[in-house]
Formats: sequence, structure tokens, C-alpha cells
Amino acid sequence: MERRTQVLVVGGGPVGLLAALRLRQRGLDVLVVEQNEHTTARSFAAVLHPRTLALLSGLGSLDPFVWQGHAFKRVVIFAGGERRAVLDVPAGAELAQGGLTLPQNVLRSALEQALSAQGVYVEYLHRLASLADDGSEVRAEVTRREPVSAPPSRRGHVEWLDVETISVRASFVIGADGRESTVRKLLGIPWRQLGPARLFGFFDVPHEPPAGQNIELVLGAEASAMYPLHGGTTRYTFELDRAPTEPLDAEKLRELRATRMPWHPVNRESVEWTSVHAFERAWSERFGRNRVWLAGDAAHTTTPLGTQSLNVGLREARDLANAVADSAPGRNVEPLTSGYAAQRELEWRRLLSLGEKPRLLPNAPSWVRHQAAELVAALPASGEDLDEGLSVLGITLP
Ligand SMILES: Cc1cc2nc3c(=O)[nH]c(=O)nc-3n(C[C@H](O)[C@H](O)[C@H](O)COP(=O)(O)OP(=O)(O)OC[C@H]3O[C@@H](n4cnc5c(N)ncnc54)[C@H](O)[C@@H]3O)c2cc1C
Repeated sequence: MERRTQVLVVGGGPVGLLAALRLRQRGLDVLVVEQNEHTTARSFAAVLHPRTLALLSGLGSLDPFVWQGHAFKRVVIFAGGERRAVLDVPAGAELAQGGLTLPQNVLRSALEQALSAQGVYVEYLHRLASLADDGSEVRAEVTRREPVSAPPSRRGHVEWLDVETISVRASFVIGADGRESTVRKLLGIPWRQLGPARLFGFFDVPHEPPAGQNIELVLGAEASAMYPLHGGTTRYTFELDRAPTEPLDAEKLRELRATRMPWHPVNRESVEWTSVHAFERAWSERFGRNRVWLAGDAAHTTTPLGTQSLNVGLREARDLANAVADSAPGRNVEPLTSGYAAQRELEWRRLLSLGEKPRLLPNAPSWVRHQAAELVAALPASGEDLDEGLSVLGITLP
């Protein structure tokens, strides 16, 4: 079977869906392939920065954001066991007074619905297998696959059966296929890891009284954070020095909170959901070439504290879609090479503190001097909002 499309988007995560939506809004044909099944399973929380909310507010009905999201207005920073600073979060368009925490599946569903309203349906269980870019078009092979039940000895493990290979001819390919990006690997672009991966444990705790409108960041040898979620639930995030030998539970939460956030009352509450995951600061040496480009976690990852990979990734989705639309009529890929790629590299050099380090203003307090690079990654902001928040703390980015 052969299919033709103007743009093949690989990955049905938030970044791929937003890129596809923007491409449709610019009048291009788009095909979105996602290797996994559609799922509405509970997902981790996304922390959306005010700039991201402004970007999303043009998409149509975002009622689910209002009834399943929780607005936050301030970031309270602790270091060395003391409360050091309170930053106001800029207003985030009409969706929220500040930023918003939201289950990531709600974000995905809202984007998918907006996309289906444009007549595009995600092709689930379709996996990109190969790519060849001849300079004027890209030929890709996509495999349609089905899950088969694994033997009892491998319960929980999914095995796949390839049932069909589809040849896709596209003018452009967007690789929004996450950390393990097949697109990046097929292009042979090296993935540069910047230091060791850091392990974080997550706890969602139903709370009484509701968690309020502050995010808390606790900096130190191991970082911690608290984010209010919808319905009075609170997300605690703790960096761990080693992989836990027992599953995370309410007892572990009490222990971590007593040592890292002793100002939080030690209640006997239950824990609704826990998870442990390693995060690395890493980026792709290039953002793509010619007719194949990357956005989102396919091109960078960072700590979960400031959630910059997702938020900047959503901006990339919009900018990449616009650059592709500007390049599409002819063969001039200039908006991609010197526009999109150059800007992406500049922004991520700053966010990952590559090259020139963050500078300290003379008025920077001593606790900031020890935490400058961590603050750049941990504030839930990017672009001018990040610059503004950092300048209040006495830090400037080159
Ligand atoms: C455990 C965990 C916890 C996190 N917690 C938070 C948090 O609390 N807050 C926050 O803001 N961010 C969090 N993040 C980060 C956030 O999830 C990512 O930044 C965000 O999902 C990136 O979106 P994306 O669309 O670029 O990639 P992804 O969401 O990873 O989507 C990529 C998609 O591409 C698909 N794909 C991959 N390869 C192929 C292929 N060959 N063919 C077809 N499809 C393919 C994948 O199945 C996937 O659906 C967390 C990440 C993880 C892993």
C-alpha cells in the first residue's frame, strides 16, 4: 500500500499533535502515525507555562483545561532549609491566572479533538520503520502492527506482530517521537547526554485543605518540588539518590517530606499514585536536516522540575509547522535551516547552560550563586518569562 501526504508527523504525543494541528491550520495535508494504542489511562501531570497557555488558547474549546486543570500564580523557592524567594507567575492568557497543572492525557485529548475537527485522525498502531530523503521528497516505511498476548512468563510485556507495511511519500517529515526518537536515529544524529541521569519519585496525594496556588521548589543536593493539581490533589516530586528497593508508598512520602519539606504538616493521608523515573539533561546535536526535522523530547530532555522540554517542545511544534508551511510551495528549506534550526539551537544552549554559563548580577544573594544552573532548569518558564524570573533572582542568561 502507498500513501502520499505533504507532511508525515511521527509521534502522537502532545508535540506531534500540536504540529499536525498547526499544519492543518496552514492548509497542509498531514498524516500522523503513533506506534502505540490509543489510551485514556491515568497519566502524569503536565505543568503548562503561561506562554504555553497563550499558545494553546487559539485552538478552540479548551473547557477540559478549565475543569481538569489547576491554576498556579506563584513559585516559592527554598534553599538551605529556608524560604528564599517568591516569584509571581505572569498571567497566562484567558485560560488561567498564571500557569496551569493538568493531566497530560487531558492535554493530548484536547489536541486530538481539535485535530479531528480538522478531519485528521491519528493512525494508532503505526510505527515508522525507515526513511529516505532524496532532497525533493521523503520516502518512509510505516509498519501497521498489532499487540499479541505475551507468554505468562512475560506478563506485562507487550509483543507486537507486524501486519502490513505502508510506503509513505511525503514532502516533509516531523519527528515528534520522543526521547527514543526513531527519526533522530534514522538520521544518524548523535544524542548528547549532559551529565548523569537523575532519578525522581512522584507521589499524588489527595489533600485537605486544597493545595492553593503556589508551586514550591526546594533546591539542594537533591531537588524536590510540590505542585497543586486539580481537585485538591498535590503532586510531590523528590529527587532520589538511588533506585528504591520497595515500591513508593505513604510511609516513604512522609519520610521524604519530613526531611525535605518539614513545613508541610505530616498527615496520615493516603497516596493515590506513585512513579519513579530517571531524567537526563540531553539534546540532539542537530534539529534535523533538509526535509526531516525534530521537535519536543525527540530533540531534548531536561529535569521534570521546570517542565521545559514539554513547554518549549509545544512552541517548537508551532514554529516547525510554520517553517514547513513556509517552505512547502517550493524547494527552499531556508525557513527550516537558518530559521527553525538556528533558533532552536540558541534557545537550548541557554536552557541547558551550554557554552557561556548563566551570569550573576552583583546583587545576587549567596544561595543563588550556588544554584544558578539548577534555577535555570527548575523555574516553570521559558523565553522572556524565564529571563524575567531569573533577573529577579540576580541571574542573566547569555
Ligand atoms: C515518567 C515521565 C514523567 C514525566 N513527568 C512530567 C511532568 O510531571 N510534567 C511535565 O510537564 N512533563 C513530564 N514529563 C515529560 C513530558 O512527558 C515530555 O516532555 C512530553 O511528553 C514530550 O512530548 P513529546 O510529544 O515530545 O513526546 P512524547 O510524549 O514522548 O510522545 C512521543 C510519541 O511518539 C511515539 N513514537 C515513538 N517512536 C515512534 C515511531 N517509530 N513511530 C510512531 N510513533 C512513535 C511514542 O509512542 C509517543 O507516543 C515526564 C516524562 C516521563 C517519561
